[in-house]
Amino acid sequence: MYTITITNQFPANEIEELIKMFVPKGEYELNVEEALANAQSFSVVFDGERISRPVSDYDPPERLFEEKKELKNAVKRGIYTALSTHTGKTLPWGTLTGVKPGKIVRDLKDRGWKEAEIRTHMKEYYYLSPEKTELLMEILHNQYPFAKPEGEKSAGIYLGIPFCPTRCVYCSFTSNIPRKDDVERYLAALYREIEYVGSEMQRTGWKADSFYIGGGTPTTLEEDQLEDLLTAIFREFDLSGCREFTVEAGRPDTITLEKMQVIKSFGIDRISINPQSMKQRTLDLIGRSHTPEEILTAFETARKAGIGTINMDLIAGLPEESPEDLMDTLEQVTALGPENITIHTLALKRASRLKMEDEEYHLKHGDVLTDMVAKSQAYMKQAGYEPYYLYRQKYMAGNYENVGYCLPGKECLYNIRTMDEQQTMIALGAGGISKRYFSAETRIERSANVSNFEIYIDRIDEMLNRKYQLLFA
Ligand code: SF4
Repeated sequence: MYTITITNQFPANEIEELIKMFVPKGEYELNVEEALANAQSFSVVFDGERISRPVSDYDPPERLFEEKKELKNAVKRGIYTALSTHTGKTLPWGTLTGVKPGKIVRDLKDRGWKEAEIRTHMKEYYYLSPEKTELLMEILHNQYPFAKPEGEKSAGIYLGIPFCPTRCVYCSFTSNIPRKDDVERYLAALYREIEYVGSEMQRTGWKADSFYIGGGTPTTLEEDQLEDLLTAIFREFDLSGCREFTVEAGRPDTITLEKMQVIKSFGIDRISINPQSMKQRTLDLIGRSHTPEEILTAFETARKAGIGTINMDLIAGLPEESPEDLMDTLEQVTALGPENITIHTLALKRASRLKMEDEEYHLKHGDVLTDMVAKSQAYMKQAGYEPYYLYRQKYMAGNYENVGYCLPGKECLYNIRTMDEQQTMIALGAGGISKRYFSAETRIERSANVSNFEIYIDRIDEMLNRKYQLLFA
């Protein structure tokens, strides 16, 4: 039994997240005390024997944080070193528990650090593996030219349609199986938000430079609903400076030639079709109601309508899948020639059915994930795709990452900027979280719409008022 003790000046949640990656629940105890003996900031004990060890004596070129945060990072390094030495495990992301590690390296580059200094820092300060350090550096190189927005009042817009044909077992999003009446009532409330935000943005000088319709599955909407929605968006927003417009088509069983033609008729050239896997057994297990053949047909349909940029989302670590299954999916998907492929690692939040069925699922699949992640990253490289954005989530199988790949020149601006958080993001619809970026203070303020679509409809006036306070007051 491990007994880890820290003082109450450190965030116990964050430190426990790190501990859990080494030791399963029930095999450790985390104590938080006001002060420790001998002025120590932490201690790690295994069956009564102290196993804390000295950490690396690396000295960064520049001090980055105030004292308390520096000390917290040192405590995480200390706990990492003790647990890693004692269990024999290493973590690819070292002591990092945050979801956007790319922001760290981008900040160091903004500060003028040399690439070699950034590499050393990631390895010595956060204990990142050489592979993850190289992946971050490659992504930094690919996304740096796109990260900075065109001005303080440039924004990315997100609009959410919280409906899907069925619910996937790993889903923790605001997704509902629609009844016609629900969709109509939701769209009526959404139109009010579209009109309000569109006109306020024009009144106060905000400009949209990317627009992303996500969900849920936006193509769950019928053709006429989709057409009305896009008509309202193009009428209410000034999209003259918009560089990119994406519609997430998501589920292949919602894609028809007519819907694709509607999308294309507005000049929209970027969609996402998300197979997750090309194996029928997996699709059945995860609650999808379509076949692998329907994925191929949906792709052809989108191309037939003239859609030029297609992303495909896949997930590594799905139930019963082996590395060979993932490679087979990758071969089938790359054979289609999509411009973007995003490989997620299965993440199971509390709200997902799979997590409810197996609390420890994400902790049990570390070894198979190690193989899958290594093989898929090598495969994508030889297939000509470059990694261009990355994020991590809590409860990820094997503690890995999600990586967006693209063919050269096909980066998705919205994805890069959402993760980099140097631009204001305005989110419409149930569950949307708007984030206003204040560049002078490098600070973000958030305002969330409620995620339940019924409550969103009932409280739409309050949602508009929240937007006013955050963005337009
Ligand atoms: S398609 Fe996405 S949003 Fe819809 S149920 Fe599946 S995981 Fe949830």
